[in-house]
Amino acid sequence: MTIGILGGGISGISLAAQLDENVEVLEKRARIGGLCGSIIDQGFTFDAAGPHIMFSKNKEVLNLMVATLGDNVHQRRRENKIWFKGQLVKYPFENDLASLPKEDNFACIYGYIVNPHADEAPASLAQWSYKTFGEGISDKYFIPYNRKIWNYDPAKLGLEFVSRIPKPPMEDVLKSSIGIPTEGYLHQLYFYYPVEGGYEAIVHAFAKKVRGRICTSSPVTEVKRSGKGWQVTTKNEERRTYNELVSTIPVHELLTVWPDAPKEAREAASRLRYNSLINVLLGLRGDGVPYTALYIPDPAIVFHRLSFPKYFSERNVPHGSWSVMAEITANEGDGIWETNDDQVLERVIVDLEKMGLVDRNDIAYRRVVRFQYGYPVYELDYRENVTVLRESIARTGLHLLGRFAQFDYINSDVCVERALALAKTLNDV
Ligand SMILES: Cc1cc2nc3c(=O)[nH]c(=O)nc-3n(C[C@H](O)[C@H](O)[C@H](O)COP(=O)(O)OP(=O)(O)OC[C@H]3O[C@@H](n4cnc5c(N)ncnc54)[C@H](O)[C@@H]3O)c2cc1C
Repeated sequence: MTIGILGGGISGISLAAQLDENVEVLEKRARIGGLCGSIIDQGFTFDAAGPHIMFSKNKEVLNLMVATLGDNVHQRRRENKIWFKGQLVKYPFENDLASLPKEDNFACIYGYIVNPHADEAPASLAQWSYKTFGEGISDKYFIPYNRKIWNYDPAKLGLEFVSRIPKPPMEDVLKSSIGIPTEGYLHQLYFYYPVEGGYEAIVHAFAKKVRGRICTSSPVTEVKRSGKGWQVTTKNEERRTYNELVSTIPVHELLTVWPDAPKEAREAASRLRYNSLINVLLGLRGDGVPYTALYIPDPAIVFHRLSFPKYFSERNVPHGSWSVMAEITANEGDGIWETNDDQVLERVIVDLEKMGLVDRNDIAYRRVVRFQYGYPVYELDYRENVTVLRESIARTGLHLLGRFAQFDYINSDVCVERALALAKTLNDV
């Protein structure tokens, strides 16, 4: 084999699909999919890391992903809401201010218009929010929600991902406050999703195009330079050598199996923060609610988002049932990560009952899943650290690709986009 790829998530598999038969993918788990993976159990399908939708600003990539799914794809309309003081507000928040209690609506629109931060140059996510939305929207929604999803103080988060957050036109915010409907965040309003098999179906669809080998249950235990190539050892002491090596596994994992990794990379990685996820999956009897997801800024509720797989595809639930996934961002040492699964489950069910969404007698399926690597956190010194990390590894000739390999908050479409670009380079070698 001339090319070795570590990791069988969408990055590794979509890259392999663009290469010839001399490629081998080594995946730790028994199943490919990674963060795009789905759990299919007792008739319920959940995208285990969190709800996944297919969309992209890159039309070529989106078309490729949709075409790769063949007949197994349909389009859905986003129906997201924000849970605010027991009421449902349309997402994004600033596009539905009229649904807020009147005092809150006034505070939001007043803060938006009379904004002492409007001319400030923001240095953190919190400051950006005050400048962009004003104090009302920031204090009531944006900052508490971001504190929950990032499990971190928004004043310590940088500006790296604000380009992903659309800035609402003033006209929309004014209209929304007096109740004239507007729609924000249009590029995600309609999204694609597999009819069958959950989001993981896209990874299997790419896998069908792979001409080389995909080895599952093959955790990499050592990576070493060997002449001009690379030697890779997997569990059971199996050794392989490749001319070119691509790692799509989390870079923190790569560094634990690569004793000769550059020292600067190790130091930079130790300064990069990431979040873990605890997701509670519940299958229920009945009809459920007609939403894609609910966002919950309320700090008294343990989860920051609920999603409803039936809305993504009817086939995600057995007939006469619905399901819900509750997402909790966690970090080792924060208490919630240390809470056992039964306690997390109970806490989530209590909160869902408080919200009036679930009756525990209807629960037919329950499961808790944990992901160590969920979100790369863009701290204030993120760019500096990630640059050292990437550049020092690039100098060794090892290629990094994907969300946690490159330590970049990217979605599956960008993984595919970068896989296409890397495949061009590798095909030219
Ligand atoms: C909550 C959440 C919601 C998301 N929503 C969306 C969305 O709506 N739309 C979207 O497009 N994207 C979404 N994403 C992003 C998407 O999941 C990722 O961008 C994508 O799955 C990353 O793929 P990857 O292949 O780069 O990495 P991964 O999926 O992490 O793959 C890495 C693989 O490496 C394997 N591995 C680890 N260690 C080893 C080892 N030692 N040896 C061998 N293999 C190993 C892992 O098992 C894994 O399969 C979301 C992500 C999260 C967490």
